Amino acid sequence: RRGTAGAAIPMALGFDGVTQRFGAVTALDNVSLRVAPGEIVALLGHSGCGKTTLLRLAAGVERPSSGRVLLEGRDVSSPAHFVEPEARGVGLVFQDYALFPHLSVRENVRFGLRGYGNAEADATALRAIARVGLADLAEAYPHMLSGGEQQRVALARAVAPRPGVLLMDEPFSNLDRRLRDAVRDETMALLQEIGATSIIVTHDPEDAMRVADRIVLMQQGRIVQTGTAEELYRRPASLFAARFFCDLTEIETVVRDGEVDTPLGRFPAPALPNGAAVLAIRPQAVRLVPKGFCLPARVVTRRFLGEVDHIELAVDGIDKLLMARLPTRRDSVVEGEDVGIDITMDEVLVFPVGDT
Ligand code: ATP
Repeated sequence: RRGTAGAAIPMALGFDGVTQRFGAVTALDNVSLRVAPGEIVALLGHSGCGKTTLLRLAAGVERPSSGRVLLEGRDVSSPAHFVEPEARGVGLVFQDYALFPHLSVRENVRFGLRGYGNAEADATALRAIARVGLADLAEAYPHMLSGGEQQRVALARAVAPRPGVLLMDEPFSNLDRRLRDAVRDETMALLQEIGATSIIVTHDPEDAMRVADRIVLMQQGRIVQTGTAEELYRRPASLFAARFFCDLTEIETVVRDGEVDTPLGRFPAPALPNGAAVLAIRPQAVRLVPKGFCLPARVVTRRFLGEVDHIELAVDGIDKLLMARLPTRRDSVVEGEDVGIDITMDEVLVFPVGDT
C-alpha cells in the first residue's frame, strides 16, 4: 500500500531477546519484536515501562545489555557489528521536537541533510517543508511557530533524508487536544505517503488506535500483548490490558465450573480454573430498563458529558458503584432515581485474580 515516487525504501526492524539494564533497573526484559517493512507500530505503555529505551536502541544511541537489534535482518547492535546512529537510515522525532532555536525552519530541516550537496540539501529541505504544509514559514524561527507547526518541522527534518525507519517519541503529547487530533491525522497521512517503517511511542491508547497498524502493549519492560486495536480491545490478554483501553467496574468474584455467579447475574468464564477472579464490566455493558424489570439499581451520580451521560449506580450486594455511559436524553434519569438495569454479556470480561 506504500511507495510513491521519491519515498523511502522501508526497512524491516527487529529486536531479538533485548534486555537493557541501568544499574539495578531493568528497563527492558527480554523483548522480541518484528516490525515489517512499511508497518506502523505504536509502542503503548505507562510512564517508565521502557518504550523510550526501545526506541533509543533502534536509533543506536543506546547499546543493549544483551540481545540484538536487527535492521533488514542484520545485527546492528552487537559490539562486533555495531552500526552508528548516523549510518542506520533511521529518522527520529523527539517529544520536545528538539529544534535548534537559532536556526530557521529551512536550516533546521537542512541539518538532517549533512552529506548532501548545498543545492540538493536546500531543494530537499524545501520539498520536505512544503510537504508538511509550512512552505510559507521556511524562513521563520522556532519561537515564532505554534506547537503544531514545531511538530511538523520536527517531522519534516526527520523524513527529509528519506529514512527507512522513522521513530517518534510521544510526538503529540505537547499539543492541546484540538490541535492534537489534526496533527495526528496529518502525521498519519504523511507516514502512509512516505512509506517508512514507523514506531510511535505513546502512553495514550487513542493515539495508538488512531495511528498504528499494530499496537505493542508494554508493561514493566516487557511486551504483554500485540495486535490490532480491535484485537486488543475485544480480547485483552489481562486485566492490565483491559484497563488500558476502557474504564472498568471491577468486582471480586469466584469462578466455579466455568462461570461466575454474582449479584449482577451469572457470567461465563469457560477458560478459567476454579478460584478467585475479577469481573470487569465496561460502562457500555450497562443499559437502563424500566424500573421493575431485570436488576434493581439506584442512580447515585449523573454527569452530563454532551453526547453521553456518565452514570454511577448502586446495586444491592455490590460494594462498588457500577459505571454506565448512556446516550444523553432530555428525559434522562436523575440522581436518587430507582431504575432497572440490564448487562450485556459481551462487554463483560472475567480475569483471574493477580492477572494485572
Ligand atoms: P516515559 O513515557 O516516562 O518516557 P518510558 O516507557 O519511555 O517512560 P523509559 O524512559 O524507557 O520508559 O525508562 C524505563 C526505565 O529505565 C525507567 O525506570 C527509567 O527510569 C529507567 N532509565 C531509562 N534510561 C535510564 C538511564 N540512562 N539511566 C538510568 N535509568 C534509566
